[in-house]
Amino acid sequence: MGLRYYIKTFGCQQNKADSERIAASFEARGMKPAKGYIDADYIVINTCMVRQSAEDRVYGLVRNLGKLKLKPRRSRTAGLKIIITGCMVGIAHRDKTGKMLQKLKERMPEVDEFLPIEEVGFDNEPIRTSKIHAWIPISNGCNNFCTYCVVPFTRGREISRPFEDILNEAKKLKEKGYKEITLLGQNVNSYGADLILGKKNIQVMEDLNKKYFENSKVNPPIGGQKSKLQLKIKKLKFNENLKLKIENCKPVYVKHLGRYRIPTLFPHLLEEVAKLGFEKVDFISSNPWDFSDELIDVIAKYLNITKTIHLPVQSGDDNVLKRMNRWYTSDEYLRLVANLKLKIKNLKLTTDIIVGFCGETDEEFENTVKLCKKVGFEKAYIAMYSPRPMTAATKVMKDDVPYEVKKKRWLILENLINKPPLKKN
Ligand code: SF4
Repeated sequence: MGLRYYIKTFGCQQNKADSERIAASFEARGMKPAKGYIDADYIVINTCMVRQSAEDRVYGLVRNLGKLKLKPRRSRTAGLKIIITGCMVGIAHRDKTGKMLQKLKERMPEVDEFLPIEEVGFDNEPIRTSKIHAWIPISNGCNNFCTYCVVPFTRGREISRPFEDILNEAKKLKEKGYKEITLLGQNVNSYGADLILGKKNIQVMEDLNKKYFENSKVNPPIGGQKSKLQLKIKKLKFNENLKLKIENCKPVYVKHLGRYRIPTLFPHLLEEVAKLGFEKVDFISSNPWDFSDELIDVIAKYLNITKTIHLPVQSGDDNVLKRMNRWYTSDEYLRLVANLKLKIKNLKLTTDIIVGFCGETDEEFENTVKLCKKVGFEKAYIAMYSPRPMTAATKVMKDDVPYEVKKKRWLILENLINKPPLKKN
């Protein structure tokens, strides 16, 4: 009997898409999927670190699988191998002191291999479970360093896949009869900045602003007359990895907090994918600060692009947003929402909100409630803040909102957005 693998995935859609690539790498080595843990020779656990509870579930699972390792396995020839990948391994590999990896090894002696997800490439076609819907990862990682978020540490800096590789993957899926696709990235709508500027030049917005826009008193580069700034942008050298054959594919910029964000190619990519004729094209997760007018126009123009947009707000209070290092004010967010509502028919908005972030007062929380009432979200993923390793909030702020207060605030928003009185019956 040939070797079999089993993959257990925790966390977000990005992890699910990564697991499809891991499956492909096993099948390329001649292995077949197992029905469950019991008949597997290789068990891969794709981990998530978004909350402590997600990590704790991994520790519990590995402990139980360790017991399985000790049992004689009549049906299997080889000994069971346990492989851990995903966020817990990502953060440990980025810790240059090596202490985090050492800690993981000590905490989970049952594990045979700690595999960084970057070592699983895009060479093999992912093994997809659905024949109708497919995930297409377009970028990985994040440069934004929101102070509560562990993603820049678990997945590293944002890296975009080449434009043409993504389009080719989408074309193949269309030929195979797939009807729906979702473009995936931690910041899906900042796609392409590293392709345009080169990875080394992608800094936080302030640095980029100084480098490219210093002393510039001209208009934003999008729309309107050609300005000196636009000419300057045209001179930006495209990275050689960017093999764009699309005419007029110029970088798109958005201004938030008085500064220009990084250039992105996402509106162009989304348009090219929509033109392939899928029944539905979706994308997650987008951030307000890279949501350009061009992107709104593309969504409005193509019927097959989703009209349900996930737009994480996290808080409706400007001081909390600042402490979170989110690059917009509540007013800017509301202006963006107004623009989306104006241009996109049948728009539905969903969001992410964190309650009880470090120092959040009753008044600050009230501002979030007010913003939610103004927007009218269809759905919200509401989380009570919990500190995550290596983040700025953990290092320099205090997790000082009591659990009971967090829970109360969570309930208020949950009842307001996800379980309003009319939806209860
Ligand atoms: S929450 Fe902030 S830091 Fe985390 S992935 Fe999203 S944009 Fe990046």
